[in-house]
Amino acid sequence: MATVAEEWLNICGGCEVAILDLGEKLLDVLPSLEFVHMPVLMDHKYFGQTGEKSELEIPEADVGMISGGIRNEKEKHVAEEMRKKCKTLIALGSCACFGGIPALANMYTLDDIYEKVYRDSKTTESADTPSKDIPPLTDRVYAVDEVVNVDVHIPGCPMNPVIILEALTCLLEGKPFELPERSVCDDCPTKREEKSDVGLKRPLQDAEFTPGEYNTMRCFNEQGILCLGPVTRSGCGKQYNGNGEVVPRCVKGYMPCRGCFGPIREGANPLIDMMTALSSIGLDAKLVEDRRALLNRYIGGQNRLRPLPAKAGR
Ligand code: SF4
Ligand code: SF4
Ligand code: SF4
Repeated sequence: MATVAEEWLNICGGCEVAILDLGEKLLDVLPSLEFVHMPVLMDHKYFGQTGEKSELEIPEADVGMISGGIRNEKEKHVAEEMRKKCKTLIALGSCACFGGIPALANMYTLDDIYEKVYRDSKTTESADTPSKDIPPLTDRVYAVDEVVNVDVHIPGCPMNPVIILEALTCLLEGKPFELPERSVCDDCPTKREEKSDVGLKRPLQDAEFTPGEYNTMRCFNEQGILCLGPVTRSGCGKQYNGNGEVVPRCVKGYMPCRGCFGPIREGANPLIDMMTALSSIGLDAKLVEDRRALLNRYIGGQNRLRPLPAKAGR
């Protein structure tokens, strides 16, 4: 029996829904797990049930799971306490692994953000930046492993429940867990000719496809529709049924990959690699508008996105 503590920091809640998406498979692992802390499901007060304690406290656990990145001092404190109390710590989802969508804010200074939200907004009255009874924001959005040591990363926005199950099973059996260094393209059944004879189209422009026939659909990039498959780690298409089907989640919905599983390997630079991939099939990568944000959409933590000097324009 392994004890489990789960925390959610700067999140949308989708990663917790992905855990529930394990469905009946959850019943297979539940007898081996004892949840000792999970704010989304269980009432546990950080400072004692009646607020009698002065130190934030999370119960000890064999496995700790954190979803969400770190955007304020309270979240930083909770992550540190989780690290202290959990023998193995898992970062769940792209927000925890890389900062996620909220880390797009790292392109701006805190002052810029406060000005935009509280004073420059055209639809609300100008106001002071709130500071009473709320934790102060950190200077930028952090991935969890920038603040505490993380043992296992499970990326995805949200994660694939099959991978959560694989990771938990490995931990229960005392085996290491790591995702392979493969790209989404490696799992993609679309037709590729290694060249594009069209220009880059606007994002979300319709692709050409016949419903249900992935094999005859031309690769999105070759259709001129930006797809981050070449620079994104595979795994989102894994199924329980074990029939080997791995069609990437977005491709299955006739949409291009947006990069939510993050870089294929640690230290890779998807922006540079994607520009190379586009050039290699004859597309002018410089025409990708707002490419700093678009090609780092889920991975702005770990210091990948930061404000540009004012002179360079934003
Ligand atoms: S990774 Fe995606 S689903 Fe998970 S908390 Fe972040 S935004 Fe939500
Ligand atoms: S770029 Fe996109 S559509 Fe093309 S092969 Fe890779 S994942 Fe599939
Ligand atoms: S295709 Fe790309 S964006 Fe879509 S779920 Fe898979 S990794 Fe994420």
